[in-house]
Amino acid sequence: MDARPNLFGLDRAGLEAVLRELGQPRYRAGQVYGWLYAHRVKAIAEMTDLGKGLRDALAARFDLRWPEVSHRERGADGTVKFLFRVNAGEGQPASTIESVFIPDERRNTICISTQAGCPLACTFCLTGIAGYRRNLAVDEILGQVATVMDEAPRDGKAWNIVVMGMGEPLLNEAATFPALRVLMDPKGFAIPPRKLTLSTVGILPALERLAQEPVRPNLAISLHAPNPELRRKLMPIEEKYALHDVLDAAERYPVPRGGRATLEYALLAGVNDQPEHARELAALIAGRPFKVNLIPLNPAPEIPFAAPGERAIDRFCAILVERGVTVSVRRSRGQDVLAACGQLHLKQGEALAIRRRTPPAPPAPPAS
Ligand code: SAH
Repeated sequence: MDARPNLFGLDRAGLEAVLRELGQPRYRAGQVYGWLYAHRVKAIAEMTDLGKGLRDALAARFDLRWPEVSHRERGADGTVKFLFRVNAGEGQPASTIESVFIPDERRNTICISTQAGCPLACTFCLTGIAGYRRNLAVDEILGQVATVMDEAPRDGKAWNIVVMGMGEPLLNEAATFPALRVLMDPKGFAIPPRKLTLSTVGILPALERLAQEPVRPNLAISLHAPNPELRRKLMPIEEKYALHDVLDAAERYPVPRGGRATLEYALLAGVNDQPEHARELAALIAGRPFKVNLIPLNPAPEIPFAAPGERAIDRFCAILVERGVTVSVRRSRGQDVLAACGQLHLKQGEALAIRRRTPPAPPAPPAS
Protein backbone atom coordinates (compact mmCIF):
# COMPACT_ATOMS: atom_id res chain seq x y z
CA MET A 1 0.00 0.00 0.00
CA ASP A 2 1.02 3.57 -0.67
CA ALA A 3 2.33 5.14 2.51
CA ARG A 4 1.88 8.69 1.29
CA PRO A 5 -1.19 10.46 2.69
CA ASN A 6 -4.08 11.11 0.37
CA LEU A 7 -4.49 14.62 -1.00
CA PHE A 8 -8.05 13.69 -1.98
CA GLY A 9 -10.27 14.16 1.03
CA LEU A 10 -8.54 17.25 2.44
CA ASP A 11 -10.79 20.25 2.85
CA ARG A 12 -9.90 23.83 2.03
CA ALA A 13 -8.20 24.46 5.37
CA GLY A 14 -6.23 21.22 5.04
CA LEU A 15 -5.05 22.15 1.56
CA GLU A 16 -4.11 25.65 2.70
CA ALA A 17 -1.89 24.15 5.39
CA VAL A 18 -0.23 21.84 2.87
CA LEU A 19 0.49 24.64 0.42
CA ARG A 20 1.66 27.02 3.12
CA GLU A 21 4.17 24.41 4.13
CA LEU A 22 5.39 24.29 0.53
CA GLY A 23 5.82 28.08 0.61
CA GLN A 24 2.93 28.69 -1.78
CA PRO A 25 0.44 31.56 -1.82
CA ARG A 26 -2.99 30.83 -0.45
CA TYR A 27 -4.86 30.93 -3.76
CA ARG A 28 -3.03 27.76 -4.77
CA ALA A 29 -5.15 25.85 -2.27
CA GLY A 30 -8.26 26.98 -4.14
CA GLN A 31 -6.77 25.72 -7.41
CA VAL A 32 -5.94 22.30 -5.97
CA TYR A 33 -9.40 22.12 -4.36
CA GLY A 34 -11.02 22.73 -7.76
CA TRP A 35 -8.92 20.04 -9.41
CA LEU A 36 -9.81 17.52 -6.72
CA TYR A 37 -13.55 18.10 -6.33
CA ALA A 38 -14.87 20.10 -9.30
CA HIS A 39 -12.73 18.61 -12.11
CA ARG A 40 -12.02 15.40 -10.23
CA VAL A 41 -8.69 14.64 -11.86
CA LYS A 42 -7.13 11.31 -11.02
CA ALA A 43 -3.51 12.43 -10.74
CA ILE A 44 -1.62 15.38 -9.36
CA ALA A 45 0.15 15.57 -12.73
CA GLU A 46 -3.16 16.62 -14.30
CA MET A 47 -3.32 19.83 -12.24
CA THR A 48 -1.95 21.72 -15.19
CA ASP A 49 -2.05 25.29 -13.92
CA LEU A 50 0.20 24.55 -10.95
CA GLY A 51 3.62 24.49 -12.55
CA LYS A 52 5.79 21.43 -12.79
CA GLY A 53 7.84 22.17 -9.69
CA LEU A 54 4.82 22.43 -7.42
CA ARG A 55 3.18 19.33 -8.91
CA ASP A 56 6.34 17.35 -8.29
CA ALA A 57 6.61 18.65 -4.75
CA LEU A 58 3.01 17.68 -4.06
CA ALA A 59 3.40 14.25 -5.66
CA ALA A 60 6.50 13.59 -3.56
CA ARG A 61 4.49 14.05 -0.39
CA PHE A 62 0.99 12.99 -1.36
CA ASP A 63 -0.90 10.41 -3.31
CA LEU A 64 -4.23 11.09 -5.03
CA ARG A 65 -6.47 8.06 -4.74
CA TRP A 66 -10.11 7.13 -4.78
CA PRO A 67 -11.22 3.94 -3.05
CA GLU A 68 -10.50 0.86 -5.11
CA VAL A 69 -13.48 -0.66 -6.94
CA SER A 70 -13.39 -4.40 -6.33
CA HIS A 71 -16.55 -5.29 -8.18
CA ARG A 72 -19.43 -3.79 -10.18
CA GLU A 73 -22.80 -5.40 -10.66
CA ARG A 74 -25.36 -4.11 -13.11
CA GLY A 75 -29.04 -4.76 -12.42
CA ALA A 76 -31.66 -5.27 -15.10
CA ASP A 77 -33.06 -1.77 -14.45
CA GLY A 78 -29.75 0.01 -15.05
CA THR A 79 -28.84 0.21 -11.37
CA VAL A 80 -25.15 -0.39 -10.80
CA LYS A 81 -23.87 -1.57 -7.46
CA PHE A 82 -20.24 -0.66 -6.77
CA LEU A 83 -18.27 -2.59 -4.20
CA PHE A 84 -15.21 -0.77 -2.90
CA ARG A 85 -12.36 -2.33 -1.02
CA VAL A 86 -11.45 0.07 1.73
CA ASN A 87 -8.28 -0.39 3.64
CA ALA A 88 -7.24 2.79 5.35
CA GLY A 89 -3.97 1.41 6.58
CA GLU A 90 -2.43 0.26 9.83
CA GLY A 91 -4.75 -1.09 12.44
CA GLN A 92 -7.78 -0.91 10.19
CA PRO A 93 -8.94 -4.14 8.62
CA ALA A 94 -9.83 -4.29 4.95
CA SER A 95 -13.54 -4.21 4.32
CA THR A 96 -16.03 -3.88 1.52
CA ILE A 97 -18.45 -1.01 1.26
CA GLU A 98 -21.08 -0.32 -1.33
CA SER A 99 -22.49 2.53 -3.37
CA VAL A 100 -25.34 2.41 -5.83
CA PHE A 101 -25.86 4.31 -9.09
CA ILE A 102 -29.59 4.65 -9.81
CA PRO A 103 -30.52 6.21 -13.16
CA ASP A 104 -34.05 7.28 -13.97
CA GLU A 105 -35.73 9.42 -16.60
CA ARG A 106 -35.11 12.74 -14.92
CA ARG A 107 -32.02 12.37 -12.81
CA ASN A 108 -29.16 10.18 -11.73
CA THR A 109 -28.97 9.26 -8.08
CA ILE A 110 -25.94 8.06 -6.12
CA CYS A 111 -26.49 6.28 -2.84
CA ILE A 112 -23.38 6.41 -0.64
CA SER A 113 -22.16 4.73 2.54
CA THR A 114 -20.65 6.43 5.58
CA GLN A 115 -19.64 3.37 7.59
CA ALA A 116 -18.39 -0.13 6.80
CA GLY A 117 -21.35 -2.03 8.19
CA CYS A 118 -23.63 -0.46 10.76
CA PRO A 119 -23.86 -0.73 14.56
CA LEU A 120 -27.59 0.05 14.82
CA ALA A 121 -28.85 -3.50 14.25
CA CYS A 122 -32.30 -2.60 12.94
CA THR A 123 -33.98 -5.99 12.69
CA PHE A 124 -35.20 -5.62 9.09
CA CYS A 125 -31.94 -4.33 7.61
CA LEU A 126 -29.32 -6.61 6.19
CA THR A 127 -26.56 -4.07 6.84
CA GLY A 128 -27.45 -4.10 10.53
CA ILE A 129 -27.73 -7.86 10.64
CA ALA A 130 -24.28 -8.29 9.05
CA GLY A 131 -22.58 -6.14 11.71
CA TYR A 132 -20.23 -3.20 12.01
CA ARG A 133 -16.59 -2.60 11.10
CA ARG A 134 -15.66 1.04 11.27
CA ASN A 135 -16.31 4.61 10.26
CA LEU A 136 -15.28 5.66 6.78
CA ALA A 137 -12.88 8.56 6.25
CA VAL A 138 -13.66 11.68 4.20
CA ASP A 139 -11.72 10.42 1.17
CA GLU A 140 -13.63 7.15 1.26
CA ILE A 141 -16.99 8.94 1.31
CA LEU A 142 -16.14 11.50 -1.38
CA GLY A 143 -14.30 8.86 -3.41
CA GLN A 144 -17.52 6.87 -3.81
CA VAL A 145 -19.19 9.89 -5.40
CA ALA A 146 -16.19 10.72 -7.60
CA THR A 147 -15.96 7.14 -8.87
CA VAL A 148 -19.64 6.73 -9.67
CA MET A 149 -19.78 10.14 -11.41
CA ASP A 150 -16.68 9.26 -13.40
CA GLU A 151 -18.16 5.99 -14.65
CA ALA A 152 -21.72 7.20 -15.27
CA PRO A 153 -22.95 8.00 -18.77
CA ARG A 154 -22.47 11.67 -19.66
CA ASP A 155 -26.19 12.23 -20.21
CA GLY A 156 -26.39 15.71 -18.70
CA LYS A 157 -29.01 14.69 -16.12
CA ALA A 158 -28.94 16.38 -12.74
CA TRP A 159 -27.24 14.57 -9.88
CA ASN A 160 -29.02 13.59 -6.76
CA ILE A 161 -27.13 12.17 -3.78
CA VAL A 162 -28.65 10.17 -0.97
CA VAL A 163 -26.67 9.30 2.13
CA MET A 164 -28.66 6.10 2.51
CA GLY A 165 -26.10 3.37 1.96
CA MET A 166 -24.37 1.40 4.65
CA GLY A 167 -24.05 2.93 8.06
CA GLU A 168 -25.51 5.70 10.16
CA PRO A 169 -24.10 9.02 8.92
CA LEU A 170 -24.74 10.80 12.21
CA LEU A 171 -22.56 8.29 14.05
CA ASN A 172 -19.70 9.41 11.81
CA GLU A 173 -19.95 13.18 12.00
CA ALA A 174 -16.20 13.64 11.86
CA ALA A 175 -16.07 12.46 8.26
CA THR A 176 -19.66 12.92 7.11
CA PHE A 177 -19.91 16.66 7.86
CA PRO A 178 -16.72 17.65 6.00
CA ALA A 179 -17.78 15.43 3.09
CA LEU A 180 -21.22 17.08 2.95
CA ARG A 181 -19.58 20.52 2.86
CA VAL A 182 -17.41 19.59 -0.11
CA LEU A 183 -20.36 17.94 -1.91
CA MET A 184 -22.55 21.06 -1.58
CA ASP A 185 -19.77 23.60 -2.14
CA PRO A 186 -20.37 25.37 -5.48
CA LYS A 187 -16.58 25.24 -5.96
CA GLY A 188 -16.52 21.54 -5.06
CA PHE A 189 -18.97 18.89 -6.31
CA ALA A 190 -21.60 21.66 -6.54
CA ILE A 191 -24.58 19.51 -5.55
CA PRO A 192 -27.47 21.85 -4.64
CA PRO A 193 -28.44 21.23 -0.98
CA ARG A 194 -31.98 20.25 -1.93
CA LYS A 195 -30.55 17.46 -4.10
CA LEU A 196 -28.58 15.92 -1.27
CA THR A 197 -30.49 13.94 1.36
CA LEU A 198 -29.11 12.54 4.56
CA SER A 199 -31.04 9.67 6.10
CA THR A 200 -30.76 8.99 9.82
CA VAL A 201 -32.50 7.18 12.65
CA GLY A 202 -32.16 10.49 14.51
CA ILE A 203 -28.95 10.60 16.56
CA LEU A 204 -30.14 13.70 18.39
CA PRO A 205 -26.97 15.57 19.41
CA ALA A 206 -25.50 15.12 15.94
CA LEU A 207 -28.77 16.10 14.30
CA GLU A 208 -28.78 19.34 16.30
CA ARG A 209 -25.25 20.04 15.11
CA LEU A 210 -26.17 19.30 11.51
CA ALA A 211 -29.00 21.81 11.86
CA GLN A 212 -26.38 24.41 12.88
CA GLU A 213 -24.23 23.89 9.77
CA PRO A 214 -24.16 26.94 7.51
CA VAL A 215 -25.33 24.82 4.57
CA ARG A 216 -27.51 21.81 5.23
CA PRO A 217 -28.82 18.91 3.17
CA ASN A 218 -32.35 17.56 3.07
CA LEU A 219 -33.32 15.31 5.91
CA ALA A 220 -34.93 11.88 5.93
CA ILE A 221 -35.77 10.20 9.21
CA SER A 222 -36.03 6.43 9.54
CA LEU A 223 -39.28 6.14 11.48
CA HIS A 224 -40.71 2.72 10.55
CA ALA A 225 -43.34 2.66 13.29
CA PRO A 226 -46.15 4.95 14.45
CA ASN A 227 -45.42 4.52 18.17
CA PRO A 228 -42.40 3.97 20.45
CA GLU A 229 -43.43 0.45 21.49
CA LEU A 230 -43.42 -0.93 17.98
CA ARG A 231 -40.39 1.12 16.95
CA ARG A 232 -38.43 -0.32 19.86
CA LYS A 233 -39.07 -3.83 18.55
CA LEU A 234 -37.69 -2.95 15.14
CA MET A 235 -34.96 -0.46 16.00
CA PRO A 236 -32.88 -0.82 19.19
CA ILE A 237 -31.88 2.85 18.93
CA GLU A 238 -35.39 3.80 20.10
CA GLU A 239 -34.11 3.14 23.66
CA LYS A 240 -31.65 5.97 23.29
CA TYR A 241 -33.30 8.43 20.93
CA ALA A 242 -37.03 8.19 21.27
CA LEU A 243 -39.53 8.65 18.47
CA HIS A 244 -41.23 11.77 19.84
CA ASP A 245 -37.93 13.55 20.47
CA VAL A 246 -36.67 12.59 17.03
CA LEU A 247 -39.82 13.98 15.39
CA ASP A 248 -39.49 17.22 17.36
CA ALA A 249 -35.87 17.60 16.24
CA ALA A 250 -36.82 16.82 12.63
CA GLU A 251 -39.55 19.45 12.78
CA ARG A 252 -37.04 22.07 13.92
CA TYR A 253 -34.47 21.08 11.28
CA PRO A 254 -34.06 23.80 8.65
CA VAL A 255 -34.71 21.94 5.42
CA PRO A 256 -33.29 23.66 2.29
CA ARG A 257 -35.64 26.08 0.55
CA GLY A 258 -38.38 25.62 3.11
CA GLY A 259 -39.06 22.03 2.04
CA ARG A 260 -40.21 19.32 4.38
CA ALA A 261 -38.32 16.50 6.01
CA THR A 262 -39.18 13.00 4.88
CA LEU A 263 -40.20 10.18 7.20
CA GLU A 264 -39.13 6.79 5.88
CA TYR A 265 -41.40 3.94 6.74
CA ALA A 266 -40.45 0.41 5.67
CA LEU A 267 -43.59 -1.70 5.34
CA LEU A 268 -43.24 -5.12 6.96
CA ALA A 269 -46.11 -7.52 6.28
CA GLY A 270 -48.35 -8.00 9.30
CA VAL A 271 -46.01 -6.01 11.56
CA ASN A 272 -46.46 -2.30 10.82
CA ASP A 273 -48.50 -2.27 7.61
CA GLN A 274 -52.03 -2.61 8.98
CA PRO A 275 -54.76 0.04 8.64
CA GLU A 276 -54.50 0.89 12.34
CA HIS A 277 -50.81 1.64 11.89
CA ALA A 278 -51.59 3.96 8.99
CA ARG A 279 -54.23 5.77 11.05
CA GLU A 280 -51.86 6.07 14.00
CA LEU A 281 -49.11 7.41 11.77
CA ALA A 282 -51.44 9.98 10.22
CA ALA A 283 -52.52 11.13 13.69
CA LEU A 284 -48.92 11.27 14.89
CA ILE A 285 -47.85 13.70 12.19
CA ALA A 286 -51.10 15.59 11.57
CA GLY A 287 -50.40 19.26 10.92
CA ARG A 288 -46.64 18.75 11.05
CA PRO A 289 -44.29 19.59 8.19
CA PHE A 290 -43.40 16.07 7.06
CA LYS A 291 -43.88 13.90 4.04
CA VAL A 292 -43.90 10.14 4.20
CA ASN A 293 -41.94 7.77 2.01
CA LEU A 294 -43.21 4.21 2.19
CA ILE A 295 -40.59 1.56 1.44
CA PRO A 296 -42.05 -1.91 0.90
CA LEU A 297 -39.55 -4.20 2.60
CA ASN A 298 -36.74 -5.39 0.40
CA PRO A 299 -36.47 -8.98 1.51
CA ALA A 300 -33.44 -11.18 1.98
CA PRO A 301 -33.12 -14.65 3.46
CA GLU A 302 -31.55 -13.28 6.66
CA ILE A 303 -34.30 -10.71 7.21
CA PRO A 304 -37.02 -12.21 9.43
CA PHE A 305 -39.85 -10.21 7.82
CA ALA A 306 -41.82 -10.38 4.60
CA ALA A 307 -42.71 -7.71 2.08
CA PRO A 308 -46.34 -6.55 2.08
CA GLY A 309 -48.57 -7.34 -0.90
CA GLU A 310 -49.71 -4.67 -3.34
CA ARG A 311 -53.10 -4.43 -1.65
CA ALA A 312 -51.64 -3.74 1.77
CA ILE A 313 -49.37 -1.07 0.29
CA ASP A 314 -52.26 0.61 -1.54
CA ARG A 315 -54.50 0.49 1.51
CA PHE A 316 -51.81 1.97 3.79
CA CYS A 317 -51.07 4.69 1.28
CA ALA A 318 -54.77 5.51 0.77
CA ILE A 319 -55.39 5.94 4.50
CA LEU A 320 -52.55 8.46 4.72
CA VAL A 321 -53.71 10.33 1.61
CA GLU A 322 -57.30 10.52 2.94
CA ARG A 323 -55.92 12.20 6.03
CA GLY A 324 -54.01 14.78 4.05
CA VAL A 325 -50.52 13.28 4.39
CA THR A 326 -48.14 13.75 1.45
CA VAL A 327 -46.96 10.25 0.69
CA SER A 328 -44.82 8.48 -1.89
CA VAL A 329 -43.98 4.83 -2.35
CA ARG A 330 -40.34 4.08 -3.04
CA ARG A 331 -40.03 2.01 -6.13
CA SER A 332 -37.42 -0.57 -5.36
CA ARG A 333 -34.37 -0.40 -7.58
CA GLY A 334 -31.59 -2.89 -8.05
CA GLN A 335 -33.12 -5.70 -6.02
CA ASP A 336 -31.70 -8.33 -8.34
CA VAL A 337 -28.17 -7.27 -7.42
CA LEU A 338 -29.01 -6.72 -3.73
CA ALA A 339 -28.52 -3.00 -4.16
CA ALA A 340 -31.89 -1.92 -2.76
CA CYS A 341 -32.40 -0.23 0.61
CA GLY A 342 -31.38 -2.46 3.46
CA GLN A 343 -29.71 -5.00 1.20
CA LEU A 344 -26.22 -3.54 1.34
CA HIS A 345 -23.94 -5.43 3.63
CA LEU A 346 -20.40 -6.27 4.40
CA LYS A 347 -18.99 -8.96 2.20
CA GLN A 348 -19.18 -9.54 -1.48
CA GLY A 349 -19.04 -13.30 -1.00
CA GLU A 350 -22.11 -13.13 1.19
CA ALA A 351 -24.07 -11.14 -1.36
CA LEU A 352 -23.33 -13.67 -4.05
CA ALA A 353 -24.18 -16.58 -1.78
CA ILE A 354 -27.54 -15.04 -0.93
CA ARG A 355 -28.29 -14.33 -4.55
CA ARG A 356 -27.67 -17.95 -5.39
CA ARG A 357 -30.01 -19.09 -2.65
CA THR A 358 -32.86 -16.87 -3.78
CA PRO A 359 -35.46 -18.96 -5.64
CA PRO A 360 -35.92 -19.68 -8.44
CA ALA A 361 -32.25 -20.56 -8.31
CA PRO A 362 -30.47 -20.82 -11.63
CA PRO A 363 -27.35 -22.95 -11.67
CA ALA A 364 -24.69 -21.04 -9.81
CA PRO A 365 -22.88 -18.79 -12.29
CA PRO A 366 -19.12 -19.07 -12.43
CA ALA A 367 -17.46 -16.44 -10.27
CA SER A 368 -16.47 -13.53 -12.49
N1 SAH B 1 -28.73 4.54 9.03
C1 SAH B 1 -29.45 5.47 8.18
C2 SAH B 1 -29.04 5.32 6.75
C3 SAH B 1 -29.54 4.04 6.07
S1 SAH B 1 -30.72 4.58 4.96
C4 SAH B 1 -30.93 5.31 8.42
O1 SAH B 1 -31.31 4.35 9.07
O2 SAH B 1 -31.70 6.16 8.00
C5 SAH B 1 -31.46 3.18 4.42
C6 SAH B 1 -32.98 3.26 4.55
O3 SAH B 1 -33.49 2.01 4.14
C7 SAH B 1 -33.40 3.45 6.00
O4 SAH B 1 -34.60 4.15 6.10
C8 SAH B 1 -33.58 2.02 6.40
O5 SAH B 1 -34.34 1.90 7.56
C9 SAH B 1 -34.24 1.43 5.18
N2 SAH B 1 -34.15 -0.02 5.13
C10 SAH B 1 -33.29 -0.79 5.80
N3 SAH B 1 -33.50 -2.08 5.51
C11 SAH B 1 -34.52 -2.13 4.65
C12 SAH B 1 -35.17 -3.19 3.95
N4 SAH B 1 -34.82 -4.44 4.10
N5 SAH B 1 -36.16 -2.86 3.11
C13 SAH B 1 -36.51 -1.57 2.92
N6 SAH B 1 -35.91 -0.53 3.52
C14 SAH B 1 -34.93 -0.81 4.39
